[in-house]
Amino acid sequence: MKLELIKGDITTIKVDAIVNAANSSLLGGGGVDGAIHRKGGEQILEDCQAIRQKQGKCDTGQAVITRAGNLPSNYVIHTVGPVYNKGGVLKEQQLANCYKNSINLLIKNGLKTIAFPNISTGIYGFPKKRAAEISVKTILCLAPSEQPEKVIFVCFDDQNYRIYEELLK
Ligand code: ADP
Repeated sequence: MKLELIKGDITTIKVDAIVNAANSSLLGGGGVDGAIHRKGGEQILEDCQAIRQKQGKCDTGQAVITRAGNLPSNYVIHTVGPVYNKGGVLKEQQLANCYKNSINLLIKNGLKTIAFPNISTGIYGFPKKRAAEISVKTILCLAPSEQPEKVIFVCFDDQNYRIYEELLK
């Protein structure tokens, strides 16, 4: 498994699937979610609406997959990060589940390369360093049969980028 770190906008990344830090409605929001829907266009929202009709909302830590519309990636995996609030073990497990379930869904669909934003570290308020540690640890602990070919961490802000640079050294 190859791990890469990029500073930039995840909507420009060409991989099999980029991950969206969605909310449980799956119908779009601010931050990276807004950027993905804006640039990806109608197709993503259509697929999200179809998923909503079938299964209702998406629970925290779970993931669903849609087409990617106008984005350079082939698919978007939407996962719902925890709202940090006061933190706690459950929130940490839910964040780890976001990474685990997104990768499971990637592999289940026969896909190989994935790019993650720093889930929950924006509007949802998860401390950046702890969130980065959880993401890296979760991915490094995957069994060989559960590993993608390539995982890219895409950091939008300098602070997250520096944290990942240090962690991945
Ligand atoms: P959450 O609600 O899960 O906290 P946000 O979208 O508010 O989601 O923030 C998650 C992370 O995504 C933050 O670190 C933010 O800096 C980052 N982010 C925002 N826009 C983009 C983008 N276009 N590409 C990659 N990351 C982004």
